[in-house]
Amino acid sequence: MGAIYLPRIRRKRSKLHGWGVFALEDINKNKRIVTYDGEKITSKESADREDLYLRRGEIWCFRINRRWVIDANVNGNVARFINHSCRPNCYSNVIDGIIWVIAGKNVKAGDELTYDYHTEGDKEIECRCRPGCKTRL
Ligand SMILES: [Zn+2]
Repeated sequence: MGAIYLPRIRRKRSKLHGWGVFALEDINKNKRIVTYDGEKITSKESADREDLYLRRGEIWCFRINRRWVIDANVNGNVARFINHSCRPNCYSNVIDGIIWVIAGKNVKAGDELTYDYHTEGDKEIECRCRPGCKTRL
């Protein structure tokens, strides 16, 4: 990791929902921004935790693959505050077992970072990415 320069970002109150994460500098398309950190658990362990979080209207568990999940509620970093959007400016990608949030387009300083969570569960949470969005997460 040492040589990779990561752009500066910061957690702030979001117009979308609760906390959000914002670019503090311009970020070029396809630039890696931040890793999605947390406790690595099995899908089986994750199922119970996801139910608990969902009852509080929260999503913390991010699937690496069929077997492994990252739970950002435990030892998570700032990436856990990045909001979902159905029209995001970032995307996620698993590289060598690490989840990265990557710029999907050129991002301007001050823009809120968003990506599509691609959730698979019970779709109990209303999407707040824009007024009237019909998506459920
Ligand atoms: Zn939406």
